[in-house]
Amino acid sequence: MKFSKLFAPSLKEAPRDAVLPSHALLIRAGFIEQLGSGLYNFLPLGKIVLERICAVIRQEMDAAGAQEVSFSVVTSADAWKKSGRYAKYGKELLRFKDRKDNDFVLSPTNEEAAVLMVADKITSYKQLPLNIYQINTKFRDEARPRFGLLRGREFTMKDAYSFHADAADMKREFEVMRQAYSRIFTRLGLNFRTVDADSGAIGGSGSKEFMVLADNGEDDIVVCKRCEYAANIEAARRAPKTTNAAAPETDGMMKFKTPAMKTIDAVAEFFKVDKFYTIKAVIKKALYEDRSEIVAFFIRGCDELQETKAQNACGALELVDASEEEIARAGFTAGFCGPFGLGEGAKFYIDAELKGAREMIAGANEPDYHYVGASVINFNESRFADLAAVGVGDACPCCGGELSITKGIEVGHIFQLGTRYSEPMGARFLDANGKARAFYMGCYGIGASRLIAVAIESSHDERGCVWPRELAPFELEIIISNHKDAAAVEFAEKLYEQCRERGIRVLLDDRAERFGVKMNDFELMGFPYAVLVGKALAERSVEFITRAGLKRQSVSADEILSFIERKLIEKN
Ligand code: ATP
Ligand code: MG
Repeated sequence: MKFSKLFAPSLKEAPRDAVLPSHALLIRAGFIEQLGSGLYNFLPLGKIVLERICAVIRQEMDAAGAQEVSFSVVTSADAWKKSGRYAKYGKELLRFKDRKDNDFVLSPTNEEAAVLMVADKITSYKQLPLNIYQINTKFRDEARPRFGLLRGREFTMKDAYSFHADAADMKREFEVMRQAYSRIFTRLGLNFRTVDADSGAIGGSGSKEFMVLADNGEDDIVVCKRCEYAANIEAARRAPKTTNAAAPETDGMMKFKTPAMKTIDAVAEFFKVDKFYTIKAVIKKALYEDRSEIVAFFIRGCDELQETKAQNACGALELVDASEEEIARAGFTAGFCGPFGLGEGAKFYIDAELKGAREMIAGANEPDYHYVGASVINFNESRFADLAAVGVGDACPCCGGELSITKGIEVGHIFQLGTRYSEPMGARFLDANGKARAFYMGCYGIGASRLIAVAIESSHDERGCVWPRELAPFELEIIISNHKDAAAVEFAEKLYEQCRERGIRVLLDDRAERFGVKMNDFELMGFPYAVLVGKALAERSVEFITRAGLKRQSVSADEILSFIERKLIEKN
């Protein structure tokens, strides 16, 4: 490719809302352009990178035995109604009608479509297993589209769906996909971890996320300093918390006057106890399909509520803050709320680690009073759930080592769905005994377009992108420093042809631009290597530049081709 023909409109300034380097650089370097909130066009350079990512994904999915298909992006709402997700999915699902008043959705994910594709065609266990995938457009009307390609509304995803005769075979495929994903992200040159995850709106159990470690990530990942344990904070576990602090001394459960002591800090200070021995209430409004409810979550005073865990406990679509009025109307006493003696109808959950705890201090459900010496016993089993957020310094659930928290960006998520979709949608096959059974399914997603941004988040400097070779739109740029220097032009063009013949992905900057402009563009666009053909050619010398670190080295003009071959071809 010649730069004079390349459509890559670079910009001096990044858009004002571009707070992350990847967002700013991809727009400034002319890879993508924004046309609305969460909506992007791919310009030629961006499209090449996307296709390179898709090629790696495709090769590894094919090698793992999956078959590529393509689902219509517009899906009939009927299937979504059957699976029960039409009402449940919330506002991220874009619903619309056609001219005949039929309901449709723009696919945010394709479990239903995959079931429809396979049901009635795969009828016997002998035809199983099957794994189908696509790389296609998704639409999610995200509440907060931001960070460029990291969280768009329209984006490209690789999504795969597998079908199995039983749970054991589903688990086998899950492991095959886990390994394929590891190969994909390794080839893309990313520093990633596989972590335990919450399954969210997709459902099922036993899911794993692939997280690229990055300071700008939106996800918190809990990592053990000693063993391999790693989990998204939404699903992280810990060894039950302990303390060396002395328990308060009491003679059984008693009510104490605690005037105006509405916070855990005030209560702990008043009784001179460690917050470990206090119970804190977090009251939320839980939104369901057709109703809302005020729910209290009880955790230790030294812990924080993990919202995803809380949401899973009560099965809500969303948790929002409750107003004082709503809290009062639901029968809770804000500031003095505890699990003991709550009314029958009250909706509440207690953190599982509190089960059996003794000598606890908790609100007495009456203004200005707390109980001391309370024991968390005699509660119905269904009241207990994992609610507390794992924190830095907590103990690993596997080895007891120290847990730390780092930031990550989710690039992939694999799920064991079981019969979550096949059962309600009536998708069945005949097993070896001729009995009709619902398919066991797995599903496996990768954020293909998000990966473009992730690559740059992981690899850039103050001057621009620094692409890993596998993803770079071009591996090598040949820069003619002065387009009026006929000898340089002739040498560069010949070198360009020779590189092309050798299959090197090369760009020739032949533009009638100042040298500074060309260098700036090279640094901004971030191709891995450049050859600078300038004045030194008179002494039969050119400069070889490595973009990472901007290292320059002088190479004999007569040896540059074999130098490039060694650098670029032999390493392939
Ligand atoms: P997140 O928690 O980041 O919203 P998710 O759990 O909703 O992600 P999945 O439903 O598992 O995501 O989708 C599979 C993959 O698609 C994710 O791992 C992610 O890489 C990508 N993805 C999800 N939402 C977006 C988005 N809004 N923009 C770009 N990529 C996305
Ligand atoms: Mg999401």
